[in-house]
Amino acid sequence: MDAKTQAAFRKRLLRWFSQNARILPWREEPSLYKTVVSEFMLQQTQVKTVIPYFNRWLECFPDFESLSIADVRDVIKLWEGLGYYSRAKNLQLFAQKFIKNPAKNFLDLLKFKGVGAYTAAAIASIAFHENVAVVDGNVVRVLARIFNLRTLFPSKDNAVKCVTPLANELIDAQHPGDFNEAMMELGALVCTKNNPKCENCPLKDLCEAFQQGTVDKCPQFIQLERKKCLKKRLWWIKEGCLLLEPSRIGGANALWELPELTPERAACFVLDKLLFVGKRSIGTTTFTEEIYAASVPNTEPMWLKQCTYFPLKDVHKISLSGPHKRWIQALLKKSF
Ligand code: SF4
Repeated sequence: MDAKTQAAFRKRLLRWFSQNARILPWREEPSLYKTVVSEFMLQQTQVKTVIPYFNRWLECFPDFESLSIADVRDVIKLWEGLGYYSRAKNLQLFAQKFIKNPAKNFLDLLKFKGVGAYTAAAIASIAFHENVAVVDGNVVRVLARIFNLRTLFPSKDNAVKCVTPLANELIDAQHPGDFNEAMMELGALVCTKNNPKCENCPLKDLCEAFQQGTVDKCPQFIQLERKKCLKKRLWWIKEGCLLLEPSRIGGANALWELPELTPERAACFVLDKLLFVGKRSIGTTTFTEEIYAASVPNTEPMWLKQCTYFPLKDVHKISLSGPHKRWIQALLKKSF
């Protein structure tokens, strides 16, 4: 793309964005803190899911200071249902570290736990106006179509690596944050994966795939086979209390789940009855989780010491990961 075409690309994209950008809470009276919180929440999660969480978060933790001194259990509780809980812990770590040693640019941001190239570029360009392109799945799709890239990408990471130099060449040095947001917005609203709205696209005259009729062939990925994983979990109620164990990701007893029955653990029990089968997907793996009622020998196994009994009437007050919350609610409605 020559310099004149690049200039036209930027101008049309930014004009479209100024007229079509969604009203989002982190775009109203923007601040570094709002940008950081929204970018952590938006990792792996859709905008419409994030909005209520973002609003509640800002009410409880309006700035880096309040977040840095919060009890990690309150932080995790507020994140409950958003998934990928390490993000909540990393966001609090970000606040604690930032207060002592504020990041000033893209490279500084990369030193924070949980901040990869994508998040660092988003924060640096939006909050610090640094000239660094953000490349997510939306941007990969837009640029693969604009340049009619017919490569068969082995993975999303590989596609991001391939497209990043193109995005860095195109970025508007005067408005890098707006440019990045505009690219992602165009990918989310117009240049969608299925049924892109090419006739309404501000870039259609500059889009090679549109001109060549190959939009549905860009980008292309090698299809990965989905992996399957079976887990067993324990449903055990004693004197009106449900046994739960701390999740490895929550840490500090902040997030709880039904105890996993690894083969070693299961050997101590007689599995009486399969009560429930839950499913969930993480990345390219589909987990089938079987929840069993069980009998235990007279001596309780040592690993139960890591677990805690919670009164059934208080279960709704503790932080549970999204799937566990759903499964427990479903099981509590059943009568055995
Ligand atoms: S013309 Fe179509 S394929 Fe090309 S960028 Fe616009 S929406 Fe995407």
